[in-house]
Amino acid sequence: VSGGVPDRRACVARDLGDPLAQYRERFLLPDDIVYLDGNSLGALPAAAAQRVDDVTREEWGRGLIRSWNDAHWISAPQRTGDKLARLIGASPGEVVVADSTSVNLFKLLVSALRERPGRRVVVTQADNFPTDLYIAGGVAELLGVDIRAVDAGDVEDALDGDVAVVYLTHVHFTSGVVHDVARITRAAHECGALAMWDLSHSTPVVAVELDEWDIDLAAGCGYKHLNGGPGAPAYLFVARRLQDSLGTALPGWMGHADPFAFSPEYTPASGIARHLSGTPAILGLAALEAAVDLWLEADLVDARDKATALGDLFIDMVTERCAGHGLEVMSPRHGPRGAHVSLRHAEGYRIMQALIARGVIGDVRPPGLMRFGFAPLYTRYVDVHDAVETLADVLETHAWDREDYAVRAVVT
Ligand SMILES: *Cc1c(COP(=O)(O)O)cnc(C)c1O
Repeated sequence: VSGGVPDRRACVARDLGDPLAQYRERFLLPDDIVYLDGNSLGALPAAAAQRVDDVTREEWGRGLIRSWNDAHWISAPQRTGDKLARLIGASPGEVVVADSTSVNLFKLLVSALRERPGRRVVVTQADNFPTDLYIAGGVAELLGVDIRAVDAGDVEDALDGDVAVVYLTHVHFTSGVVHDVARITRAAHECGALAMWDLSHSTPVVAVELDEWDIDLAAGCGYKHLNGGPGAPAYLFVARRLQDSLGTALPGWMGHADPFAFSPEYTPASGIARHLSGTPAILGLAALEAAVDLWLEADLVDARDKATALGDLFIDMVTERCAGHGLEVMSPRHGPRGAHVSLRHAEGYRIMQALIARGVIGDVRPPGLMRFGFAPLYTRYVDVHDAVETLADVLETHAWDREDYAVRAVVT
């Protein structure tokens, strides 16, 4: 220990005592990088690679169309949804895997507004994730409702009898600030509104108790901390008590009560299945289901505690080792925080390119926010140590000060 923060040996020792240490081997990670972007694209579980290979070669290659029945492809959205439900405090039959997060947000927001006829306002956060805002704008135009976009701390003050739905994201995508979901949901219900939450940056690294917190609707993404793979299918949740009355804006044949009756009339399936629209993406589902199975083996309390501990260590080390270089910690040092931390610097983009060139991988969001994710199943304490030492060196040597690092890629 030097000056309060642990040295490399102390971090290695902490890894040896980590109850989750065994999980790192369950991922196919290159050993010459420090991967701190699991909040944007989770690492590849070995079981997901194997499962996609089996589903592709055996079930698709040999089984062909028979696999819809024989390999149970047709029930994969509900089966994977039921597994995922256990990670977010929901019950069997309340979660289904389908589409992208954006599409699910659209479907649920339209359904919520139709469930509260006469109320014409959606309350959201002005700096919500952009797709959430764009989707709200599209729905507002379609249904002729208004969006009331307020600061994070003003949500409860924005509630009144005109509000149909409170539409928020649990963990903020840059700051990692966490909303008090239970309290805001209670406030929404007290004024007669529905509460709908985007869980993209939460599941499963921040505690979510959908049933206990009396959430109405939720959606989230499969490719971040869930590790479902690039563009993995997303999921949606509808509380059991709403399932009979809530319709869907995208009534497709997979949400029909009997798709293979090929009836010209739409009869919604009972339960969560009506929120399926078209044919599920089986290869993507195979990877996601394998990743969810891996998460179901892990102790979620340990995982959440470790994500917090890694983030705390990162903040403490950055504060000590990178002082005087104009870095600002944009995430909460104390209190609830998602499993990522943002640092702000005027040259954040170039600094991140210099880090990536040295094998420390995070990402960048405007304005100059460097984001570092601490996925608890495969990130080690020593990775945090090495990342901060690399960052300190990049700052001290001005290794970031190169023209080519300023060229912005399509994906940042
Ligand atoms: C990542 C993320 C999304 C992603 O939406 P896609 O439709 O999967 O691209 C949506 N909302 C939030 C809050 C996110 O963090």
